[in-house]
Amino acid sequence: MSSFYLLSDASEFSKRSPWGFTVLVADPSKSCRACGHEIHPLSGRISVQLDESRGSEWTDLIGLGSFGPWLLISSRVLEGLNGIGQRFVDVHPVEFCDVPKKMQVAARPKYFLAVVNEGIRLDPTSGYVLKGHCPACGFTLTDPVMDPYSVVDRFIDASWTGMPIFLGDISGTTVYCDDRVIDLAAKQAWTNFRFIRCGKPLGESLSDPGEKYLAKK
Ligand SMILES: [Zn+2]
Repeated sequence: MSSFYLLSDASEFSKRSPWGFTVLVADPSKSCRACGHEIHPLSGRISVQLDESRGSEWTDLIGLGSFGPWLLISSRVLEGLNGIGQRFVDVHPVEFCDVPKKMQVAARPKYFLAVVNEGIRLDPTSGYVLKGHCPACGFTLTDPVMDPYSVVDRFIDASWTGMPIFLGDISGTTVYCDDRVIDLAAKQAWTNFRFIRCGKPLGESLSDPGEKYLAKK
């Protein structure tokens, strides 16, 4: 059995890492009339608005304080992931606005917004409360968790699609991955990634800088 990890950015641990405030899409978002879930169509020109007050290098993963189950990744990460069989719902090239001064002069890779697929079911003992699915749009409706910090990501292993990077069925925009992703991150020295082994309550994971994957090289 594979080990699973929470995949996120490590931006809070380094001021050198940029931060994307929001994703600006040309086409207006629509919300489902039945459940109010907002659908943001990723089409046309997509621009990421950066925080001008931080960031000095173009890291391989850029953190986003935004809505979707998305990863904002450099082209080399995307190519690496394709090489280990990763498929996404959608992959879109992005532009940037409000680029910090130091980053304007730095070499800039191409970036893509990758929409992550659902790939595993969570065990009912994880603490998420499933209410059902919206009959109109199919969106998964969960009840607010009483104590979000006590949630532990536990999986029904047999339900895993085998995709290296995936979402859970009821854990919202939390992104998971398996060992292959960390091995690749170590080999290619990806920057600004954070991998935290699943199985701890969320409250304990928040301040965890994660696996020292760069030392694994
Ligand atoms: Zn709906």
